[in-house]
Amino acid sequence: MEHRSPEAPAIDLDARLTRDETFRFACGPHVPCFTECCGKLDLALTPYDVLRLRRRLGMSSEEFLDAHTILRRRTAHGFPEVMLRMDPAAGKRCPFVTPEGCSVYEDRPGACRIYPLGRAATMDAPGKPAREFFFTVREGHCRGFEEIKEWTVGEWVDDQGFEDYAAFSDLLMELYVIKSRRAGMNLTQQHLQMFLMSCYDLEKFREFVVKSGFLKKFALRPGLAADLKRDDLALLKFAFRWLKFALFQEPTLMVKPAAMAKAKKRR
Ligand code: SF4
Ligand code: SF4
Repeated sequence: MEHRSPEAPAIDLDARLTRDETFRFACGPHVPCFTECCGKLDLALTPYDVLRLRRRLGMSSEEFLDAHTILRRRTAHGFPEVMLRMDPAAGKRCPFVTPEGCSVYEDRPGACRIYPLGRAATMDAPGKPAREFFFTVREGHCRGFEEIKEWTVGEWVDDQGFEDYAAFSDLLMELYVIKSRRAGMNLTQQHLQMFLMSCYDLEKFREFVVKSGFLKKFALRPGLAADLKRDDLALLKFAFRWLKFALFQEPTLMVKPAAMAKAKKRR
């Protein structure tokens, strides 16, 4: 689920909306509550959110993570969550909100895009398409629901540029699903570090892939190694493939026969 938790939301998970269903809403500088929703909230960032935001701000992943995030370690799924660091002195306001609105608007996180809706998704099994539904998040101060503009959920998703965010969010969810199916499995410190490095610190992950002998060990499709060296999106998608292999021994990567033979000799 895209994770944006206002302090007192009215979320009706039973009132599930499909992409064809409608709701009335409009937002912009004309509403009296403009930017009120950008405070008093906890906002978990997906790896794709971090990639978009840190590129927007001209920062490396490490710089962005140090400056703007804190880690939430205790979670139901066992993976740490990267939370946007709010300003406690200003009522937990988002660091990117200004009187004119969101200063990172074109690259705002997925949960901010889909708001005032939320999206929940489940997966019957790893690799299966996600089953999703939407719901409204009605906060007392939000006056956007009083407007007459009508949207289908699908129109809102398109208008807000949410589709890529949903796709990357589902890749993250797939890790949670695999973990939930491994009864009794605890993630070690090494697992957690690998998770954070691979999908949240892409420069370090790229160094690991390019400089550690990784490319000699694994059989990759022609052209993929070159893509991983220069294309952040390809690298992020690959990070999830790698994590499924490294954390859960899923058959998402193939060790080259020569590397396998070498490993056997060493035993
Ligand atoms: S209408 Fe709702 S979403 Fe828009 S600024 Fe007001 S509180 Fe935020
Ligand atoms: S990123 Fe932008 S839209 Fe999201 S909470 Fe911050 S200021 Fe508001």
